[in-house]
Amino acid sequence: MRRAKIVATLGPALDERDKLRAALEAGIDVVRLNFSHGDHDTHARRLESVRELAPRLSRNVGSLADLQGPKIRLGVLPQAGVPVATGSEVYLVPGADELDDYGSAGQAALPVVYESLARDVQPGGLVLIDDGSIRLVVSRCDAHGVWARVLAGGLARSKKGVNLPGVAVSAPSLTDKDVADLKAAIDLGVDWVALSFVRRPDDVTDARARVASFGGEAPVVAKLERPEAIDALTAVVDASDAVMVARGDLGVEIGPERVPAIQKQIIAEANAQGRPVITATEMLESMVMSPRPTRAEASDVANAVFDGSDALMLSGETAAGRYPVEAVRTMARIIEVAEASPQLVHPSPPPYERRSIGRVVAQAACQVARDVEATAIVVYSISGASIELVSKYRPAMPLLGLTPHEATRRRTALMWGTEAALVPMKDRSTALTTAAERALVDGNWAGRGDRIVIVSGLPGGQGGTNRIMVHRVGDPVSS
Ligand code: ATP
Ligand code: MG
Ligand code: MG
Repeated sequence: MRRAKIVATLGPALDERDKLRAALEAGIDVVRLNFSHGDHDTHARRLESVRELAPRLSRNVGSLADLQGPKIRLGVLPQAGVPVATGSEVYLVPGADELDDYGSAGQAALPVVYESLARDVQPGGLVLIDDGSIRLVVSRCDAHGVWARVLAGGLARSKKGVNLPGVAVSAPSLTDKDVADLKAAIDLGVDWVALSFVRRPDDVTDARARVASFGGEAPVVAKLERPEAIDALTAVVDASDAVMVARGDLGVEIGPERVPAIQKQIIAEANAQGRPVITATEMLESMVMSPRPTRAEASDVANAVFDGSDALMLSGETAAGRYPVEAVRTMARIIEVAEASPQLVHPSPPPYERRSIGRVVAQAACQVARDVEATAIVVYSISGASIELVSKYRPAMPLLGLTPHEATRRRTALMWGTEAALVPMKDRSTALTTAAERALVDGNWAGRGDRIVIVSGLPGGQGGTNRIMVHRVGDPVSS
């Protein structure tokens, strides 16, 4: 049984129905719609396929809409890409989506979709393209654009990211495109919204207000990839519903050598505050081209599990790679083996806050389940908050969330070690016990005579988790 979850980015590589089916079967828990790429209709079509296939495969699959944020990108380039030679000069054309002439390898011209480029850069400043794989240094700006010398060349491709390290980009955190994308995402009924380049807690609060203004309830995942967010980590995590270690842009902004320690710092903070945390970017990058991962990648995936991630993410591997199904399968296998190894040390759980009833109950439930050698823990929750909390205490036995809300059920797909099932609204403990027994037996998680622990907020309702019950499957149920 795998506990850490897998988020996979959708893209052309999984558009074939059989491939998508195989990738879902291989273990995708949450699909990511990256609004940096593709139009709204394409995202809608992809999500629809997932929603149609998942129930047939008996899989609970959630969805996450990832907003581009104030990311500077190249415009549209010819299909074959534009070669950029080391030592040559390139000309960057700000605010352009396309060019008539892209020049030659010795003197390439590249469109950059950012109006203020020439104003934001200085001679001597770095310009990094495609997560830093092409490096330029600015030599001068003229009336139409920016001249730069190529420190490290490569093949520039459409829509690749452009970073200006050390420059505080002046664009707002939710661009006009993000607002339009967010509206589309809410209309699609996505389960999570991810916000790129979060700088301050207010960025998250503002985004949440936007979600609500569009009639949505999707929780907000803060992508941690700006140095400002790392400096204000405690407050940003506190403001967020979940966080992502967005290692691509983070590595470009602060240098790849600082990523491993900051990854651990972010994961530890998220775990301490009881927020789900996703580790992302280049986890199995070589599988874009190759059917097998490098040993370094296998090690990275396992270490992200050891660090205490709730979920790990695939990006280009499943969106545009040649081996998307193999990438999911490989990630699932590495996680399973890592979780079975004696090297796995569970992260410290959220601190036991005496006055927080939810935390006290969640932690106590895990301890009771361990001490009575329960086969499973069942958490009945309307909002999903108490399922999330119990998941953070990393119970060794299966954790089954029961909820009357389809949206809550799908949201649990991101939570560590959590399976979920729908049940009608329960307001009596006898009815809940019967439903829990049935769900566990149906799912083969428990059988007659097994002890189970049931956590609920009965009577009461939303936000009132207050009850732990030990029950033996098959014993009479009374109130
Ligand atoms: P972000 O900064 O949000 O992660 P990204 O450009 O790095 O954006 P990823 O989703 O991480 O995008 O995917 C990595 C690469 O895979 C992209 O740079 C792009 O080349 C390719 N890709 C991703 N999604 C799509 C898509 N929907 N269509 C085409 N190519 C895609
Ligand atoms: Mg990014
Ligand atoms: Mg990326």
